[in-house]
Amino acid sequence: MDLRYSSTELAFRDELREWLARTLPTLPAKPDADDWPARRAYDTTWQRLLHEAGYAGINWPREFGGRGATPTEHLIFLEESERAGAPYVGVNFVGLLHAGPTLIAEGNDEQRRRHLPAILRGDDVWCQGFSEPDAGSDLASMRTRAVRDGDHYVVTGHKIWTSYAGVADWCELLVRTDPDAPKHRGISWLILPMDSPGIEIRPLKTLLGSSEFSEMFLDEVRVPVSNLVGAENDGWRVTMVTLSFERGTAWVDQIVDSIRLVADLAAIASKVTSHGAAAWDDRGLRRDIGHLAAEFDALWALTKRGVTEASTGSGVPGPGASVLKLRYTEARQRLMDLAARVLDRGALSRGDIGGLPNGEFVEERLNSMSYTIAAGTSQIQRNIIGERILGLPRE
Ligand SMILES: Cc1cc2nc3c(=O)[nH]c(=O)nc-3n(C[C@H](O)[C@H](O)[C@H](O)COP(=O)(O)OP(=O)(O)OC[C@H]3O[C@@H](n4cnc5c(N)ncnc54)[C@H](O)[C@@H]3O)c2cc1C
Repeated sequence: MDLRYSSTELAFRDELREWLARTLPTLPAKPDADDWPARRAYDTTWQRLLHEAGYAGINWPREFGGRGATPTEHLIFLEESERAGAPYVGVNFVGLLHAGPTLIAEGNDEQRRRHLPAILRGDDVWCQGFSEPDAGSDLASMRTRAVRDGDHYVVTGHKIWTSYAGVADWCELLVRTDPDAPKHRGISWLILPMDSPGIEIRPLKTLLGSSEFSEMFLDEVRVPVSNLVGAENDGWRVTMVTLSFERGTAWVDQIVDSIRLVADLAAIASKVTSHGAAAWDDRGLRRDIGHLAAEFDALWALTKRGVTEASTGSGVPGPGASVLKLRYTEARQRLMDLAARVLDRGALSRGDIGGLPNGEFVEERLNSMSYTIAAGTSQIQRNIIGERILGLPRE
């Protein structure tokens, strides 16, 4: 094993740094947090710029518009983008981080040709229609029905927590195609065009007051059978592929972001004073910041291992993705609790106070509360780790 970057990788990094330094100042101002059409325009513009410069889909195959680069170059891309303060994937989250990778692993050639380049160009935005009001942790009990009618499925049901549904063009949709089969066997994974007649989107409000997810009602929506990914009734297996990307690789840039936030917090702790002493003078606080810095460092090393393993093996992260998701999301919450301790009363304001960037920490603290729920709760990740990694008896 050689942990040093090769000369090709160093050249890639330098070129990317130079491009980021030149391009980021040309971006328009960030849109309001709850203006979703504007956020779509901003995020897809960034994606288009990446694509034009050859930086979209760093590790996606060249034949579908990706760069076809090595896992190391992919990790360099993530590190450098974060370091330069480049925009996050935003509304392109589902398409880039789990729908696209699922199509690479499970789609047919026509589906890959149709969808992958459009995701990379920022032309198409995807959402995820998995959860239902009575099927979250126990996703396999979902009930949205798809009945075959010639070349179409006729889909009726109710989805919930559908992130970006209001601005999406496509949805990765789970439907029940065999109501008589055992619950894990009668499910299929469909590509749903979001402009189909019969879809109604009702926005929900998050803790932050933003409408990033919605309820989605489907009333006899006709979906072509050619939009089936994998075989009919084999959708649970395809779903496991999607979830392993969502749990294993979709958090990666946030881990790099957390490393930056720990450093920012340490700097803030030197500035915040209480009773004449800087917060940083507190040995207990320094120890807690140090522990978190070490934990994110370890998570970044685990990420590198996961990305490398996935790229040399089947291309799909294994159940180890649950370890990463569980440890990362819980560490992020501890980081935000620690930030609240440092910021003291500033932790109650979403606006910056006294020259400190407390607004970012307060928003991230509220956001981080959802991370241990989204993509499967911490309890579910523990069940997966217990059963599939440690071989403990099933619950
Ligand atoms: C920010 C965010 C974005 C999301 N985006 C999407 C999206 O785009 N598309 C989508 O389909 N879904 C999305 N979800 C939904 C998410 O997948 C579900 O919220 C999650 O799977 C939990 O399901 P639930 O909310 O129904 O909770 P429940 O399943 O009702 O769980 C309630 C509590 O019971 C516990 N519990 C349940 N079963 C067990 C068990 N067997 N063992 C131990 N404890 C258990 C859970 O851990 C939890 O604490 C999103 C959620 C969030 C928070």
